[in-house]
Order: sequence, then structure tokens, then C-alpha cells
Amino acid sequence: MNSKELETMRISFKKLNERRMEILNDPQTKKLQERVKKIREDSVNNMEELLEMAKKRFEENGIEVFLAENDQKALNIIYNIVKDEKTVSKSKSNTVSEIDLAKFLTDKNINLVETDLGDRIVQLNPTDKRPAHPIGPALHLNVKKIAEIISESLGQEIEPEPRIIMELVKANVIEELSKCKIGITGANSVAAEDGSLVMVHNEGNISLLTLMETHIVLVGIDKLVSTIEDSISVIKLETAYATGTKIPSYINVISAPSKTADIEKRLLNGMYGAKKVVVILLDNGRRDALKECLWCIGCGSCIVACPVYNAVGHEFGYKGYLGGRGVAMSKFIKNEKTSFDSGLYMCTLCGLCTLECPVSTPTSELVEKLRINSQKAGFYPKAHGVIKKNIKSSGSPFKS
Ligand code: SF4
Repeated sequence: MNSKELETMRISFKKLNERRMEILNDPQTKKLQERVKKIREDSVNNMEELLEMAKKRFEENGIEVFLAENDQKALNIIYNIVKDEKTVSKSKSNTVSEIDLAKFLTDKNINLVETDLGDRIVQLNPTDKRPAHPIGPALHLNVKKIAEIISESLGQEIEPEPRIIMELVKANVIEELSKCKIGITGANSVAAEDGSLVMVHNEGNISLLTLMETHIVLVGIDKLVSTIEDSISVIKLETAYATGTKIPSYINVISAPSKTADIEKRLLNGMYGAKKVVVILLDNGRRDALKECLWCIGCGSCIVACPVYNAVGHEFGYKGYLGGRGVAMSKFIKNEKTSFDSGLYMCTLCGLCTLECPVSTPTSELVEKLRINSQKAGFYPKAHGVIKKNIKSSGSPFKS
């Protein structure tokens, strides 16, 4: 991020903090927070059990279900479904970005239509395609820059006016969606006992994707909870912390393909919504992750508070997994080197992220533990090697 983008990001964070103040001080939010903390801890502790239950329930509900151990397996499952298509559509999803689906499909000559405005802007940005926040990916770009990016992509000069940009992108996306039969989304929470996928959005784009002939949902196994009630609690808290509102514009709950039995009670799939729903439960290192790393509900509060993130932006993070918790997660999704390159040693261990986190993720403790592994694997700042050598040879880090 350049200095102008960092400045825009900090202004956006300030506005977000002002907007959230009232709801975060509401005693109801505090109660919800305690409930969700327990839900997340229990869910992560019982992940295997929930996984088995979810697979069983999805199948009973008529949803095709796969467990993908890694990114390559998830890509292959998706490819087998979309291989005959020229264009497929998607919504914003960190899990979809995690497996590099856009690049994979582009290499196979399949066009991927991004429907989320913020994510579309970020992906079209020629200089840097990384998001700045999990819910507001483009909040580091000012309207002038966004108008330039969209003008370039649509081949027409656009005024730097948010409504004009929104209307033009909407028209373009709707036209592209008319060519699609398959929609790919993530999910904010998975209710194992009910076999239900819960998705949250404000734009209405996910609702459109759920109406495609085939709806593919790629979701990390860390999103599993027991019941729909638990899922709703999680997404309400996520919304409060991420946007400062009590409830998002849309909550989609998908528990089966679209169907009707209105004629002679004969069951037919695919009335208005998806004829086929496929859920891919992604492991990709989550089973080996430190449990506290999986409590996260993806609200982004930690990066808003983080002094390092405010200074350097998404240099401190891996893809959509931003800040200290994101860097910790990258060790399990990828490896020690990725975590080191994503800023494992940038963290000051100040602990502000944990104070701001609705589920009290102990990020600095995670970072400290991972630095031990990273050091053993040979990934540590060069200066550490020099200091170690100095202490050994002269008893002082400064080599007196
Ligand atoms: S670690 Fe906590 S504050 Fe950061 S995104 Fe996850 S839930 Fe939100």
C-alpha cells in the first residue's frame, strides 16, 4: 500500500469505529459476545464430530458434499463441475481466494465474474490486488482511484461519484450473470445438526448466485457450529463488529436444493433456486492449526486496532487473512515460510488485537508460539542471527 492508500484506510477505520461505538457498548452485544465465544470454543473442540454430522445431514438434505483435504483437491472438485462452462460467477470469499480459484479458472480459459463491488474493485486494481479488510476489501482506495480502475475496465470515462460507479458496475455484473449457470460462494457459518449453510451480505449478490442452476459453496471446516441458532448468533456478532449494524441486509440459509412437490406430490428439484447444491468443506491445514486460531469469526476488528496494520496495511497479512491472526493462519494454510514472509516478526505483541476481538483470540500468544517453530525451521530476521552470534562471542548483543 502506498501512503495515500494507508491514509484512506485509516480514515475508513476511523469512520467504522465511530459507527460501531453505540452497538459495541450495548449490553445485549456483550451478552451475545459471551455466547458466541463459548460457541466458537466448543465448535473448534468438537470439529471432527461436527464434520461427520454435517456430512450426514447435507446428504440427507439432498446436498452433494465433499471434504477437500487441501486447495488442489478443492480446485479439482470445482473444475469437475464447471469444466463445460465459459463463464461462472462468484461472491467475495476469503476461502475462495485462499485456493486461488480465479487464477486456476483463468488458466483453464473459464471466465470468473466477481459480483461483490469491493472485491471487484480490488481484483481490477492493476497495482495491488490484495484486500485491506475482510468485509470492506477496497476501503483503502479513494473514490478517484476507484473511478480510474472501473473506467479502465469498462473502457469509458467515469465520474468519481459512488452512485455512478455502483450503477455501472451493477449493470455490467447483471449482464455477465445472464451468461452464467453456476454460482460459487463461501459461507459465514455452517450449522452441522441442521445441514444448513448461512451466508451474510448487504449487496444482494449472494441471493442471485443461490438462484443459479448449480450453487457451489466452498467453506472452511472451522466455520462449523452445531445449530442454526448458533450460526445466527455468530453472524449477528460478526456484523456488529465488522460494520456497526445490528443485522446485515441479507441472511441466506441454504439447507437443500430448490424444490416443489405441488403437482401430485411428485418431488421436482430446481423450481426458482439451484437444482444442485454442492458443498466443499475445506481442511487445508485447519485440522493441524492451533485451536485458538480457529475461533475467529472474521470481523476484522483486530486489524482496525492493530498499530502495525495501521502503519503498513496488508503487507502484514496473507491474502484475505490479515494482521497477526491472518499471519498465524497462513502457517497452517501454507507453511512456515509463508507465515514469515507475511509478517510473523512484524507483530509488536502489544495485545490490542485480543482486547478488540469479540472472541478474545490470543493472537500475540499464537505469534510467539509460531515464532519458535519458524526459528527452528530457519525463518527469522537476519538481525536475530547477528545478535545471537554477538551474545555467544562477547556476552553482549551489541558486541562490545
Ligand atoms: S481474530 Fe478476532 S478480531 Fe480478528 S477477525 Fe477474527 S474474530 Fe475478528
